[in-house]
Amino acid sequence: MDELGKITANLPRYRFQQIVSAWFETSIRSFDSISTLPQNLREQLKTVDFMTVFPTGIKEDKGDLTFKTLLTLKDGATVETVLMGRVNKKITGRPGEVRYTICVSSQVGCPMKCTFCATGRLGLKRNLTWREILDQYRFWNYFIADHLEGKIDNIVFMGQGEPMLNYENVKLTINAILKNTELGPRQITVSTVGVKAGMEKIVTDPDWPAVRFALSLHSAITETRQKLVPSHAPGFLEWLPEWAKLYHERFSARTKFVGIEYTFIKDANDDDKHLKALVKLASKLGKTRINLIPYNSTDPNMLGSAMEVIEHWREELMKKDFTVTIRRSQGQRIAAACGQLSNKVAND
Ligand code: SF4
Repeated sequence: MDELGKITANLPRYRFQQIVSAWFETSIRSFDSISTLPQNLREQLKTVDFMTVFPTGIKEDKGDLTFKTLLTLKDGATVETVLMGRVNKKITGRPGEVRYTICVSSQVGCPMKCTFCATGRLGLKRNLTWREILDQYRFWNYFIADHLEGKIDNIVFMGQGEPMLNYENVKLTINAILKNTELGPRQITVSTVGVKAGMEKIVTDPDWPAVRFALSLHSAITETRQKLVPSHAPGFLEWLPEWAKLYHERFSARTKFVGIEYTFIKDANDDDKHLKALVKLASKLGKTRINLIPYNSTDPNMLGSAMEVIEHWREELMKKDFTVTIRRSQGQRIAAACGQLSNKVAND
């Protein structure tokens, strides 16, 4: 149990909830400022960190409205998190208003070793605590309040680490955000590279929130997927349709779909054979949304596919009635785009 847990263990539950809800107020920056707490409790809380993540540098790509920071944790470990803005007239109706997506990390490093990913080369150091995950949201929430305009309207668990390997802490974080902000489950996406145990849990765990789910597939052909995603479990692609059936039963709302993420790597997974395999597999997964992702190369031996190839895939998939998007890549110039997070904010 952490220090905060020890202090609040014997207090009424609402005291803990007062503390958590104060973490979401940008006007409150210390336990001492939580006026709903009695003075003696505020005194006791002086031994607890109000924030558990500390920025060591911010990289900014103003043209792209993207910011990346390297956060240092109490034990000296570091993780990256990204803030991506977009002017969204459709939502706000007011030109110039900005909405932000934050990309949060769930682990220090990652054990999954996906061959195209800079984080995978770091290896796993440890899981983040739920406060360290939540405080990435809080960090950006304060940052926007202090330096920018607009607000966070999307959170994607697509930063460093595999969220399904830190299941309980990710779940606690999401539930705290849903309870204490205006964000709804459709504004949060949890991505996995395909950890079967975690995927099985989300379709049976009553406390798992109905957030969006995205599977980083990258190939529907076993041999190719094994090369790109060395953690690929034997029989995974054959098991997927059974799991998708359970997923649709558990999350039966009309808006629910299985998100499929497909990163395009030149001459690896981008020919017609792979396209055909994706069509075949996705046809068995019920309602899907396929997100085609231009690869942000971090390795000179692995390049992204040409945009014409990705456009061709989109057309072919749309002809088959799939919902398809091409991800707009943000933050490449500051190495903040997908697959580029390698703890280099302060160093380069
Ligand atoms: S792509 Fe995701 S799961 Fe794979 S190594 Fe990178 S951070 Fe880990």
